[in-house]
Amino acid sequence: MLNKKSVDDINVKGKKVLVRCDFNVPLKDGKITDENRLVAALPTIKKLIADGGKVILCSHLGKPKGEPKPEMSLAPVAARLTELLGQEVKFAADANVVGENAKAAVAAMKDGDVVLLENTRYRVEETKNGEAFSKELASLCDVFVNDAFGTAHRAHCSNVGVTEYVDTSVVGYLMQKEIDFLGNAVNNPERPFVAILGGAKVADKLNVISNLLEKCDTLIIGGGMAYTFLKAKGLEVGTSLVDDTKIDYCKEMMEKAEKLGKKLLLPVDTTIAKAFPDPIDAEIEISVVKSDAIPADMMGLDIGTETAALYADAVKSAKTVVWNGPMGVFENPILAKGTIAVAKSLAETDATTIIGGGDSAAAVNQLGFGDKMTHISTGGGASLEFLEGKDLPGVVAAQDKE
Ligand code: ATP
Repeated sequence: MLNKKSVDDINVKGKKVLVRCDFNVPLKDGKITDENRLVAALPTIKKLIADGGKVILCSHLGKPKGEPKPEMSLAPVAARLTELLGQEVKFAADANVVGENAKAAVAAMKDGDVVLLENTRYRVEETKNGEAFSKELASLCDVFVNDAFGTAHRAHCSNVGVTEYVDTSVVGYLMQKEIDFLGNAVNNPERPFVAILGGAKVADKLNVISNLLEKCDTLIIGGGMAYTFLKAKGLEVGTSLVDDTKIDYCKEMMEKAEKLGKKLLLPVDTTIAKAFPDPIDAEIEISVVKSDAIPADMMGLDIGTETAALYADAVKSAKTVVWNGPMGVFENPILAKGTIAVAKSLAETDATTIIGGGDSAAAVNQLGFGDKMTHISTGGGASLEFLEGKDLPGVVAAQDKE
């Protein structure tokens, strides 16, 4: 079990607290177009303010690749956070992040004040976890808080390097929630535990399939990746998305399931069309056929109705459900039915429901089921690595509870 010290386990009164947040928000003409990540960071920031800490925020934004790029400045984030918090968030505009402005702003802080540093990726050392920049960040603070789950799978100065030079390193509320649900629920689930995997390619999720197969009771496969499994079973899959180099891998996984006594569910029927919709949301003529009757010139683009019912049924009896990847080309309303059916079954169950990953989270929110899930992960790459059973450097770097 991951048992990390959190902001609830420390006393920050009068202390300088450096908080690594995920403020990597989309910007258009200097305006924030989606502020979810800012809102998600507020509970930790408010807690530290209330406890009388001097709160120094930092984050990356985009990929400036070690150069100060004005269009990737965090200045608009400081302005919006000022409004959201109802108190000034002073922006330290230093091209080298920890420069004269940052040092002066921190030196002038009173308990409960908030300062935001410039984009950490303005520094070329950031993504290399370099020593000098890690030490500079550490020199600003007494305590370090990591609340940026989205970068937890990377070892950078602002989430890993810095912890080597600060006595106290803990996690924030957002990070704690990801650890509780993705880290601990997957490793110590209430059973039956059903894992649902979809999305485009098998190759993207080799380790996720293998790890979840060991942990879960039932593994459900949908989406584009299902066709490589069906072909591995010897079925004709027409022009569906198939990775011929992963056929043996799929066979291995089916054998592994059998050996471990796990259920591995594949589509029993499939929604087919002549070609991939172009544009993706174009009107499309579909039919549903049994998975062993896909014509050679047709493409599978969603699970079929019988499969949707079968998968929903498996979810009904579960106590824990983890879902990553859509069941079909959900961007097209005609091909979103399988994904909707699965989302609906998750929304209706009393089980702990955890959504990992960017596209799956987007699908669930877009379909209006977001508030019905127990947890929707905020990190795409990081959540996949958690599901692979890997240790995330950003999580490892935080101190364990005694
Ligand atoms: P992320 O890794 O960001 O969390 P994801 O794991 O949720 O994403 P991806 O692997 O990126 O999902 O795959 C999602 C894409 O797969 C969607 O754009 C969807 O249209 C596509 N997809 C789903 N089913 C099929 C199919 N049968 N054929 C082709 N593409 C498909």
